[in-house]
Amino acid sequence: MRCPFCGADDSKVVDSRLSAEGDAIRRRRMCVECNERFTTYETAELSLPRLIKRDRSRELFDENKLRAGFMRALEKRPVSIDAVDSAVKTITRRLWATGEREVDSRLVGDWVMDALRELDEVAYVRFASVYRSFQDVNAFREEIERMENKSEADDKK
Ligand SMILES: [Zn+2]
Repeated sequence: MRCPFCGADDSKVVDSRLSAEGDAIRRRRMCVECNERFTTYETAELSLPRLIKRDRSRELFDENKLRAGFMRALEKRPVSIDAVDSAVKTITRRLWATGEREVDSRLVGDWVMDALRELDEVAYVRFASVYRSFQDVNAFREEIERMENKSEADDKK
């Protein structure tokens, strides 16, 4: 940690303790060059990375949107809501685990396909070919909606 007083690159920790709220570690440091003391706080990064969409715009990751995408893909399939929730949690955790501030939405799309493949072979096969060319979960959902409307129209014939 760089010293804010003299700019030296090195400092040593002289004291570490948990903050009163328990959500941060407070470290007392001493510069090895000028012996000035300063304090740093270490907290967990709790915000999920933003998704970089195909058009390079950024979007906040939305767990509800992801769940809705799964529900549509698995409509009328024998898959429990618990299994869907578990898949959504797994993807959210993986997103956290990247430690990145921004992640290509295609990565999330690939994880969705991985999860679908495990949940339901039919849903996976049905959507995999279409989804391959998609860049984000929104496009995925839009395509599912389009296919649903189409099949409804077919039913009316
Ligand atoms: Zn210093």
